[in-house]
Amino acid sequence: MGTVLVFAEQTNGKLKRSSIELLQAAAKSGNKVVAAVFGSHAGDVTAAAGQNGAAEVYTVKDGALDQYNPELFTANMVSVIENVKPSILLASASSTGKDLFPRVAARLGAGIASDCTELNISGDNVVATKPLYSGKCFAKTSFENCSLKIVLMRANQLPVAPADAGKSATVTDHAAAKPDLKTLIKEIVKGTSEKLDLTEANVIVSGGRGLKEAANFKVLNDLADVLGATVGASRAVVDAGWVSHGMQVGQTGKTVAPSLYIAVGISGAIQHLAGMSGSKVIVAINNDANAPIFQKATYGIVGDALEIVPKLTEEFKKA
Ligand code: FAD
Repeated sequence: MGTVLVFAEQTNGKLKRSSIELLQAAAKSGNKVVAAVFGSHAGDVTAAAGQNGAAEVYTVKDGALDQYNPELFTANMVSVIENVKPSILLASASSTGKDLFPRVAARLGAGIASDCTELNISGDNVVATKPLYSGKCFAKTSFENCSLKIVLMRANQLPVAPADAGKSATVTDHAAAKPDLKTLIKEIVKGTSEKLDLTEANVIVSGGRGLKEAANFKVLNDLADVLGATVGASRAVVDAGWVSHGMQVGQTGKTVAPSLYIAVGISGAIQHLAGMSGSKVIVAINNDANAPIFQKATYGIVGDALEIVPKLTEEFKKA
């Protein structure tokens, strides 16, 4: 039996769903599962980490780790890895994960597969599947001659079972590494939305040029409020300045995999599909019955988005 280390991300003392997915997947493999949690709230999530499969939690409770700094996180991650000595490391392909782990892999000479959508762990071996060419084909990646194999998984790809309240983890407070930093983060400007980030969202309502003008995003926001969804967008409307780039889904935006993706007035260009075709259920609303999005959609509604979306909102309010 080997050890799987999971880099567990938390926001204000709550484990992210993507980290719960990884902990549960690691636990199913039969290996020992160790979670690493950074930041002043790290102690708040040890119980949840244990209930979701971690046998041990390494907390690095330094306030300097409350916000991401590449050098600081790399030094601390390497320090935890050198103590835990895992054969497999799982992390989310979040913006932090994608920036941090290539640095860690380079530092330790580890193998890394990023942006994966399937995971198979058997003992010390891991095979990860990742989409290539905007999802046109899939590569199965295995590791050879790597003492540490790092896999970064997209969110919402792995099942989540209810936490087991009867389980708990031992907690090791790990001293923070304090390297000489060459970079200093002076300010983090928060996005205006309080909603879940697109990459984490379970329901997304996305709008495109078919909405006609920026002000009409209000109908999407109303629907999203009723559904508890996060609002996304096509690149066409981002380029037009209707919404911010943080909302863009697609090849040059965010990759999402929610349970439900509602595409409103979006044609379904290959670059948009690249970012959302992993969604479990896709609903397309478009006034052109031949729009390519309908080839990907689970359900399609042909008609004027500005008439249909408010009606859907009213119906969902009743439910
Ligand atoms: P359009 O293609 O103009 O489609 C609008 C749709 O709205 C049409 O299907 C139309 O039938 C429908 N419509 C019109 N009126 C109504 C109505 N009243 N009610 C309902 N439907 C209506 N795009 C992305 O989205 N994400 C990316 O990350 C991305 N990256 C790119 C990278 C590169 C290198 C390139 C070249 C392009 C990229 N694009 C990306 C752009 C992409 O090719 C498309 O141009 C873009 O996705 C189109 O956005 P859209 O569907 O909103 O607009």
